[in-house]
Amino acid sequence: MNSTLIFQGKPQITTAIAGTDALFPVHRIFCVGRNYHAHAAEMGVSVDKTTQEPFYFTKHPSTLIPTGSEIEYPPQTGNYHYEMEFVVAIGKEGFNVCETDADDLIFGYAAGLDMTRRDLQLKARETGRPWDLGKDFEQSAVITPIVPKAQTGIVETGAVELAVNGETRQKSDITKLIWNVREIIAHLSKFYHLQPGDLIYTGTPDGVGAVEPGDRITGFVEGVGEISLIIAKG
Ligand code: MN
Repeated sequence: MNSTLIFQGKPQITTAIAGTDALFPVHRIFCVGRNYHAHAAEMGVSVDKTTQEPFYFTKHPSTLIPTGSEIEYPPQTGNYHYEMEFVVAIGKEGFNVCETDADDLIFGYAAGLDMTRRDLQLKARETGRPWDLGKDFEQSAVITPIVPKAQTGIVETGAVELAVNGETRQKSDITKLIWNVREIIAHLSKFYHLQPGDLIYTGTPDGVGAVEPGDRITGFVEGVGEISLIIAKG
């Protein structure tokens, strides 16, 4: 039997790869929560790596939006936050990967913004409900072109910075990740069969804050990418 689609489905979500016209087909977006001590503290929690495990939330691939975009202030929030993040792009499948093999799964790296409706996230947190409305919404995953690992080598250090209207708000370094990229890949791959096309937003440093219509966000992960996002005037 030859079935037909009742309507045209959405095309494969892709993101750019630096220095080539080739595209990276996106499968899933995993985001690490509370992965810098100073950010956990500003959110009113502490992280003890000896007794706690990393945790994750996800964003649908359709939430991706390229750097350089101008977007509307999102609906149903009055506290729309930026989170500057180092992003890892997975290029090989892996399940129960050991830390020593984790680097093999990496295709490349990007800089990203985990845009957040903080009021909705905190309301969900307080009531023990899922974070989806605060995190997984349209245009909430901003990303630069992916730089292949073949060009950068394994990235383990590098400044992570963000400015709003030219004023620095976040300033940290990848070395301050509580769980580093190898540890995250090893841990996450216990729960999921990691696939080529998966993206991992590794968490944000401290200094998160709100933006308003008309604001311009700029930021970078040193050696990886520069990001910009304009919030349209209301
Ligand atoms: Mn985040």
